[in-house]
Order: sequence, then structure tokens, then C-alpha cells
Amino acid sequence: MPDMFSGQDGSLICTECIEMGYNMVLKMPKAKKEVEGLSMDSLPAPREIKAFLDQYVVGQDDAKRFLAVSVYNHYKRVIQERDDDGVEIEKSNILLVGSTGTGKTLLARTIAQFLKVPFAIVDATTLTEAGYVGEDVETTLVRLLQDADYDVQKAQRGIVFIDEIDKIARKSENMSITRDVSGEGVQQGLLKLLEGSIVNVPPQGGRKHPDQEFIRVDTKNILFICGGAFEGIERKIAQRMNTQVVGFDAQQRSARVDKNNLLQYIAPQDLKAFGLIPEIIGRLPILTYLQPLDRDALRAILTQPKNALTKQYQKLLAMDDVQLRFDDDMLDYIVDRALEAHLGARGLRGLMEAVMIDIMYDRPRNGEFVVTRAYAEERIGRTDMQRLRQAM
Ligand code: ADP
Repeated sequence: MPDMFSGQDGSLICTECIEMGYNMVLKMPKAKKEVEGLSMDSLPAPREIKAFLDQYVVGQDDAKRFLAVSVYNHYKRVIQERDDDGVEIEKSNILLVGSTGTGKTLLARTIAQFLKVPFAIVDATTLTEAGYVGEDVETTLVRLLQDADYDVQKAQRGIVFIDEIDKIARKSENMSITRDVSGEGVQQGLLKLLEGSIVNVPPQGGRKHPDQEFIRVDTKNILFICGGAFEGIERKIAQRMNTQVVGFDAQQRSARVDKNNLLQYIAPQDLKAFGLIPEIIGRLPILTYLQPLDRDALRAILTQPKNALTKQYQKLLAMDDVQLRFDDDMLDYIVDRALEAHLGARGLRGLMEAVMIDIMYDRPRNGEFVVTRAYAEERIGRTDMQRLRQAM
């Protein structure tokens, strides 16, 4: 007969049962922390994030890897933040540097879509320092709130993509009295958001005024991904690298530098030389670059991604019972024209639209249409390229 223990209410439990219960508790999986629907179980690993991005974005492997890891770490930080062990994971906002139309926005949007978190795109050039004509930096969060259906908790762990961050770099020659385009004031304003603070957001956006109701949003767990072309930054990179490569192995090192793609060597000092204030650079610790898209990449973009342009047109016409096919040399022609425009993949859509507009308007009757190079040449020949370029 085992020993018995009695509880305060007089109930009894034997030592065997206590031991069994104890062992059961030890074997029970520890409850995983969950923060607003996010937990380590549901958080996709960097490899999974990259694999998802691969389905939609062609190339840009370095940027994808950096993004996958930093997004993963960011949400780990959000989940762990209530730990009391003294180790605080710092916020890692991201800066993507790369020419226009190389996939910066697409990468940020695709990650948000994968993680099912609210997402907003903001153009830094529309932001101005408080008191000037333009939008206050706080309005950056209005779109995020809208995307979260005004669920503040949800918005507080969303992703904001700030485009054209290079355009608010300090440029004294651009000083204007009506609008702060010198950029420094805007950079100071953005700093507050990037580092994490409680911000009063005017629910309808626009300019803030005193007797308006505000929604308080904490930006601590919002991930900011900034993007910019930083045109001309290669010169700053080259300058820095030239001054660095002095010393006994200078020749060896300079021989290894790929001069055609200096962007891959970008470092925080170059951003400072370009005109970003050091505090902003400090708040964007993850710095990565996007490759210019070459002929092969542009060609792949037309057909390979899950929602490639050609697939979209085929789907649209299939709904009219028309089977659409594109000749290979027609696609090569589009790629050549897009390369001439220097607009990255951005050019592809405008060109394809110019080719497809009449086909979609007329809806071929015989159930099939093959888009040939001759057809595309004739269509694009008739298009006002100047206007097309502006529209892209
Ligand atoms: P950026 O933000 O770098 O200026 P976007 O991401 O807005 O460029 O891309 C412009 C267009 O080109 C979008 O329609 C996007 O789908 C397409 N695109 C750009 N880069 C890629 C890429 N690497 N893979 C697939 N599509 C791309």
C-alpha cells in the first residue's frame, strides 16, 4: 500500500500517482509562446521564405537571403520580446539598394503576402517635414492601418515599404522655401518611426490638425523595408574602395573587385557620403543590393514567375475561350526593347500592354491567337514610345 498525501480539502493522493503525474508533466511539450497569432511553430524558416520568393521574383539571390533571414529574425524578436533574460534583440529594418524596376517593391510585397501581415507602400518623396506642404511622416502608417482594416494590433506587426528613400538624402542645392526637399527634416521624422515609438496617426491621412482624433500606433514591431536607386552611389563606393586598397595586398585585392557591379560592395559609409544622416543609417542595419536585370533575367520574368505577365494575359484570354501563345522571338524582341528603355522589368509591362491591347479589345473569334514578332513590332512601332516611357 503506497503512502497517501492529503490535500487541504481532505482529498487523498498516493505517492505513485504523484510520481506518474510528475513524469507526465515533464513529458508534456512546453507551450510555445504566441504573440498575436505569431508563434515559432507558425513562423516560416528563412529557407521557406526564400523558396516562396523564388516563385515570384527572378534572381536577386543575395537580397532574398538577406531579407529572409532578417524578416525571420524580426518576427522572432516580436515573439520573444517578453523574455526577461536581459538579452534584447534589436530591431533590424532593411535597406534595399538597386536601380528602378529590379524587384525591390515586389520582394517586400511578396514577403508580406507570404507572412499574411498588413503591408503598405509609401513614397518618401511625398513626405515633408511637419509644417510644410506635403504629407507628415505619420501618414506613412495610415495606409498600414487601412490594410489592417484599422485593427491596430495587427497593423503594429505589419511591414511598411518606404520607396525612394534616396530622394530624401541631404542635398543643400535643392533647398526651397516652400517645401523641405533638403531631406534632413524628413529623415529626422522618419527616424522616430524606424526606431520604434508611439505615433499619433490621423485616421484619414493628410495633414495633422489639432482638433482631430488620432489613433495611437506603436511602431516598435513594425518592420520597415526601405528601397532606393541611389543613383551615382557607385562613385562613392569606388572612391571608398580606392582609398581602402592601399597596403601590402592592395594590388591583389583590387584585382578581385568586380568593377561592373560595384553595388555589391555597398557599405554604410557610402550611404553617409550620399547624404543619409548617420542616425537613419544606424536604424537600417540590414543593407543589401539588387542586381541590374540582364537579358536572361528579363526574359525569365516574362514567362517564369507564378504570375508572369504572359501567364496573366493567357488567363485573361482563356476566360474568353481564346488560347493565347507567344512566339519565342516575339518575347526576345520585347526584352530588347525593355533593355533599351533602361527601366528594368518595369518596361516589360508597358510594352506587353501596347502589344496586347487590340487583341484583348477584339477578342479573336477562332479560339486561338499566336503573338508573333512581326505583330509585336508593328504594334510597338505605332506606339508613342515617349508616352509609354512616361507611363512606366
Ligand atoms: P522597384 O521597386 O525595384 O523599382 P518593382 O518591384 O516595383 O521595382 O518592379 C517593377 C515591375 O517589374 C513589377 O511589375 C515587378 O513585378 C516586375 N519585376 C521587377 N523585378 C522583378 C524580378 N526580379 N522578378 C520578377 N518580376 C520583377
